[in-house]
Amino acid sequence: MIFIYGTGTSRLLSAPLPTLACAHCGTQGQLSVTVFSRYASLFWIPVFPFGKISVTVCNHCKQTLTSKEPLPETYRLPVQTVQQNAPMAFSNFALPLLLMAGMVAVFLLAQFGPDRKRGSAEKAASATTMQDDDAGVTLGARYKMRGTAGTTGYALMEVTRLTDDTVYYKTTGMLRNEPTAANATVALRDSVPPNSDKGRYPRKMWHFLVAGQGMFRPLILTE
Ligand SMILES: [Zn+2]
Repeated sequence: MIFIYGTGTSRLLSAPLPTLACAHCGTQGQLSVTVFSRYASLFWIPVFPFGKISVTVCNHCKQTLTSKEPLPETYRLPVQTVQQNAPMAFSNFALPLLLMAGMVAVFLLAQFGPDRKRGSAEKAASATTMQDDDAGVTLGARYKMRGTAGTTGYALMEVTRLTDDTVYYKTTGMLRNEPTAANATVALRDSVPPNSDKGRYPRKMWHFLVAGQGMFRPLILTE
């Protein structure tokens, strides 16, 4: 990439110098000074200012002097005073200001722009799909796990932790009595073998386990 850099000047202010007499024609009250700022530019856009130049003009004889050359002794103090008090121009920082504005705009778009909305809509859509896969599993949900074929026993399970992709649960040992609200709670509290809450399944399999294969059934209790 080619960088086109250079310098430029911009006018900061003009002021009359009423007390001074022109060094050329001697007329008093006809001098004025204009202060320019010099700036570095990239692709003709100002990047930063790096100094000031003052130009004096006599309205009577049109003599024009710049502060690059030594000014007449009487001019120096008033010209210097005006030059020092000339405010910096924000436009001299145009490029960094533009870049900052651009960065702020990019940041705001990323935070609040249409892409963000589409992103969260996709997220919501995939969450819906996920919910279909996981059959709407919720934390604390209880299931009845059927025993092996030919047996009448069953186990109870309770979802203990949910992550984005995994369902963790604990199970009781084999139970035989018809579960009620009271004995299910007792069983899940007392009949859970140590470390048995490390059971887990991928969330995406949950629908298959609950509805498809029917290995787990949501626990519906009779009082
Ligand atoms: Zn003059």
